[in-house]
Amino acid sequence: MDCIFCKIVNKEIPSSVVYEDDKALAFNDIAPQAPVHIIIIPKIHVTTVAELDDMDVIRDLYYVMKKIAEEKGIAETGYRIVVNHGKDAGQAVPHLHFHLLGGRPLKWPPG
Ligand code: 5GP
Ligand code: ZN
Repeated sequence: MDCIFCKIVNKEIPSSVVYEDDKALAFNDIAPQAPVHIIIIPKIHVTTVAELDDMDVIRDLYYVMKKIAEEKGIAETGYRIVVNHGKDAGQAVPHLHFHLLGGRPLKWPPG
């Protein structure tokens, strides 16, 4: 599978792992846009939720993100969870992923 995030899952490409279980992986973004910028992914390869049949995957990822936000100390101050779907959203990596951003005030609305 020629997918950069699958390669990160398979440890073919190194990453700074924040959390891992049998279904999910979380790692620090290589180009952080905030003091906390973590990418959370399902280990199965799907491009977007459009390809996902089992929505329990999303529930599990949200639980992981909630826990990471608590551990990183941003649960109190606030954070943003972003998913870019497709071209107009600027999705660069075609493997479903959540951005968890926090540690500073974040601008809204996005451009
Ligand atoms: P997208 O634009 O697809 O929503 O976000 C892709 C994210 O993945 C970007 O924030 C980018 O910095 C991050 N990224 C791309 N390649 C790598 C990589 O090899 N390692 C890590 N840790 N992050 C990556
Ligand atoms: Zn993949």
